[in-house]
Amino acid sequence: MLRLAMRKVKKEVVELVESAKPKRKRQRTRGDKDEEPNGPACLSTHHTFHDPGDVTHLRTLLLRWYDLEKRELQWRTVASTEADVNIRVYAVWVSEIMLQQTQVATVTDYYNKWMKRWPTVSDLAAATLEEVNQMWAGLGYYSRGKRLHEGAQKVVSELDGQMPVTVDDLLKQLPGVGRYTAAAIGSIALGHVTGAVDGNVIRVLCRMRAIGADCTSPAVTEALWSLANTLVHPERPGDFNQAMMELGARICTPKAPLCNQCPVRSHCLSYRKVHAKQEKTSRKLLGKEDVKPPALLDIEDCRTDGICPLCPSQPWDEELGVLNFPRKPAKKPPRVERTLTCVVTRHGQEGEDEFLLTRRPNKGLLAGLWEFPSRLLQEEKSEEEHKGALCADLSSLLGVQVIGSSLNYVGEVVHVFSHIHQTYVVHTLCLRDAGAPTQTENAQWLSRSALQEAAVPTGVKKVVNLCDLQKKHTSAETKRRKKGDIREVKKRPRGVKKATTNKNKQLSLTSFFKTTKQEP
Ligand code: SF4
Ligand code: ZN
Repeated sequence: MLRLAMRKVKKEVVELVESAKPKRKRQRTRGDKDEEPNGPACLSTHHTFHDPGDVTHLRTLLLRWYDLEKRELQWRTVASTEADVNIRVYAVWVSEIMLQQTQVATVTDYYNKWMKRWPTVSDLAAATLEEVNQMWAGLGYYSRGKRLHEGAQKVVSELDGQMPVTVDDLLKQLPGVGRYTAAAIGSIALGHVTGAVDGNVIRVLCRMRAIGADCTSPAVTEALWSLANTLVHPERPGDFNQAMMELGARICTPKAPLCNQCPVRSHCLSYRKVHAKQEKTSRKLLGKEDVKPPALLDIEDCRTDGICPLCPSQPWDEELGVLNFPRKPAKKPPRVERTLTCVVTRHGQEGEDEFLLTRRPNKGLLAGLWEFPSRLLQEEKSEEEHKGALCADLSSLLGVQVIGSSLNYVGEVVHVFSHIHQTYVVHTLCLRDAGAPTQTENAQWLSRSALQEAAVPTGVKKVVNLCDLQKKHTSAETKRRKKGDIREVKKRPRGVKKATTNKNKQLSLTSFFKTTKQEP
């Protein structure tokens, strides 16, 4: 009898393990809509929505909130009112690319100007990259604009001007469109029933289902897509996905989530966990420890004896509360770079000062954008060698010999890209006469007003500001000296470093790198 019972238990365990295997395999198939109600790579149902009633309830709560609270955004209006599918897909594609890494408030103006200038994919294809870069100036991550432009040209030349209309084709045929963007465009512009997992959705789902393993791991990524595909509303997929993103952006925020205003808190395991703890504490304070509390704590645990690929490896930190989720891997520190840059000015024919700009290479960081003549400082070369090379560049650009001593050191400007901590070591060179008309494909003179309009990165604008500050400071000092006021100038404008001190520092390039690396 006992042997029979043991055989039965063994058989059940084998069945349980076997039944879990195909589920894991299925989740790795992109766009698979026939998954079990979100069976992640975990034997426990803890991280899933296994009750269809819960799924329906959550959809209803979320969409009710979204219908009342959603922001009116131009691309949403186009997606819901534009009859021409080609324009709809194009409009949502532009918005999604602009929204990658950039906040809605910043994108809105750029988006409206863009759509006014290039209302269709053919209009964009007919533009030049220079015009696109100019329109994109200040929005950051410039390769996005370039990809949109390339994509538009591809649609016109290879797809007969017709935007792709399936999630797979969007993914395969448009440069810069990944799994999330394809799903977002597919659901919002075309009504395809697919979940869409971006950074906001990752945060919401990890908190809602207590997923605490590294949220960039393959197991978590697949589990999140599986959850999103299960939850998405079959009749309003675009609205549902946008509602999830909006919830993440406005309520379930990274550092200060507004749980008490959250429409789906009744489905949130993190919220329940925090409240269960709070309840336990208050019971303790009220001396009711002996009375059995509601079964809240029972549902907080993932019953997989430490083998779950979705559970956190670190214990729950009471002080963090819902901020325990999501967990991210430690961020790589940005690469430290220093660049020698020279602002060359001349008196333009129109009476306005002009700046010399050169074009960056067509590949890599800030591809094809305009900047002041620059040289990336490399540790193995001395500063004099770098300066010499920059002077040689300037000599060939200007057709006159430029020597190191004619460059005036101004100061330093820091600009932080997502992965690079860039310091521009700024010099100026003021030409007395207009000189040769340097105007080639890769070099041009621009007046100050034209510079504001040009496709220049934010770092260049910061360099101009530094030069302006220094100029102001110098002329104020000269005036004071003229008046016979020889008192020590104690206050320098912000951002302008004392030139003499840095001049000394500049002599040792190695110390540059050491100093900067120590910065937080
Ligand atoms: Fe996020 Fe709080 Fe809502 Fe949970 S209850 S989803 S943690 S805002
Ligand atoms: Zn788990």
